[in-house]
Amino acid sequence: MGSTVHHIALVVRDLDEALAFYRDVLGLEMIERREVAEEGVEIAFLSAGESMIELLRPLSDEGGVARFLDKRGEGLHHICLAVDDVEVAVERLRAAGAQVLNEEPRVNDHGVRYVFVHPKSAHGVLLELYERT
Ligand code: ZN
Repeated sequence: MGSTVHHIALVVRDLDEALAFYRDVLGLEMIERREVAEEGVEIAFLSAGESMIELLRPLSDEGGVARFLDKRGEGLHHICLAVDDVEVAVERLRAAGAQVLNEEPRVNDHGVRYVFVHPKSAHGVLLELYERT
């Protein structure tokens, strides 16, 4: 289950303001920006060497990311590790008693399969696992 950090995700209140800092001041290249309606967020990915930084902003007051922002403010939301086989990873996690938040892996717009692991099982941080393509 060798892994690399695929991206680190931050919740922000204002995506344009966050981009003014991460893209314009720090000089990270923006790879994509889009709305993910089914998750109620707008996201932007910035290249940071081998890894990326994901900025996410809730589209409304509803949903998990909006609640997160309300409760904890801006900041670290999740860390994403790339794994070779998401199903093998999930099996290992479940066998170890970890709480995987998705019954089945989800598939994003790029055809990448992914799951989330509860922060209680990952020592305090929401963990996302992406399957390497
Ligand atoms: Zn992510």
